[in-house]
Amino acid sequence: MNNRVYIFDTTLRDGEQSPGCSMNVPEKLRMAGKLVELGVDILEAGFPIASQGDFEAVDAVSREYPWVQVAALARCVRLDVERAAEALKHAKRPRIHTFLATSDIHLKYKLKKSRAEVLEAAARAVELARTFTDDVEFSAEDGARTDPDYLVEVSKAVVAAGARTVNIPDTVGYSTPSEYADIIGRVVKALGDTAIVSVHCHDDLGLAVANSLAAIEAGARQVECTVNGIGERAGNCSLEELVMILKTRNDRYPYQTGIHAEQLFPASQMLSSIISFGPQPNKAIVGRNAFAHEAGIHQDGMLKDRTTYEIIDPKSVGVPESRLVLGKHSGRHALKDRLETLGFALAPEELDFVYGEVTALADNKKGLMDEEIAALARKAQQAMAPAAQ
Ligand code: MN
Repeated sequence: MNNRVYIFDTTLRDGEQSPGCSMNVPEKLRMAGKLVELGVDILEAGFPIASQGDFEAVDAVSREYPWVQVAALARCVRLDVERAAEALKHAKRPRIHTFLATSDIHLKYKLKKSRAEVLEAAARAVELARTFTDDVEFSAEDGARTDPDYLVEVSKAVVAAGARTVNIPDTVGYSTPSEYADIIGRVVKALGDTAIVSVHCHDDLGLAVANSLAAIEAGARQVECTVNGIGERAGNCSLEELVMILKTRNDRYPYQTGIHAEQLFPASQMLSSIISFGPQPNKAIVGRNAFAHEAGIHQDGMLKDRTTYEIIDPKSVGVPESRLVLGKHSGRHALKDRLETLGFALAPEELDFVYGEVTALADNKKGLMDEEIAALARKAQQAMAPAAQ
């Protein structure tokens, strides 16, 4: 079986629709640039029917990165699918991602539809989407809580209608690794090589990454995830954690992604600079303390050999080697360099602003920490930004 795992990034869609994470079109475009550098396979840029901003974001990303596989979300409704197709008009590899809930809970309380009606609506939406693009993904919303026999029936029907990717989300973050692996394994077996099975996990029980890993072992080959794990409620599967597990423990998980790991930390920093919060300090891979060693015994070990207490070389995920020392003698070039490592591409006047602040502060200090420099860069961007739209 093919061991390439496709990374479907939904930072700009599921991530963006959570509190404190909304992004305007220029911000989404800036983040999209970083996601392209990071090497995500599919970039979900928005839900075009949901708002004019979402429509414009999908359109803008499609124009700016025409060779990238850009996805747009749509309910299984004609207007949604047409709006998604319209927003993707300039993409050379457009993907329409259409979804409909399949669990009895959602059918009964939310949709008030029978299983037969849902199956029919799903197949019709996929057929319609296929009139615009060959690349159609169907998501069975609340898939992890759907009756497995019906889930298999829907999966087969949407593939017969033309879907090439079937996503089985754990929409409410309820599943567990062994249970989810069973569900995914059943769908993988039923679909064979007619479609790629995808997973989309939420972290309500802190299991989004573990569930995604279990699903990969069960045959899923696309994982939907976000930078810093942002997303609805407790968030989605964290892109950096999933990618680094596959890389670091390739002995246990012999799978490959196309992610350039050295862009993980810069991508995390850039996202934090755009939305209203960063990852918690102890967040794996990208948190401020992820590579900090405080205890004396640990520091002693680290000085003798890094591998005593370090399983990942910080440089391999783009964490700058020196976490300190940017002083008044460092100069504009060193500052620009450090800012770029931290994920900031500043305009000349923004750089001037940060340089001025750094020089003023450095007079009274030994040097500035990366966090302080990043904070100044965010301040510069806010100060110079055109009026919010
Ligand atoms: Mn979701």
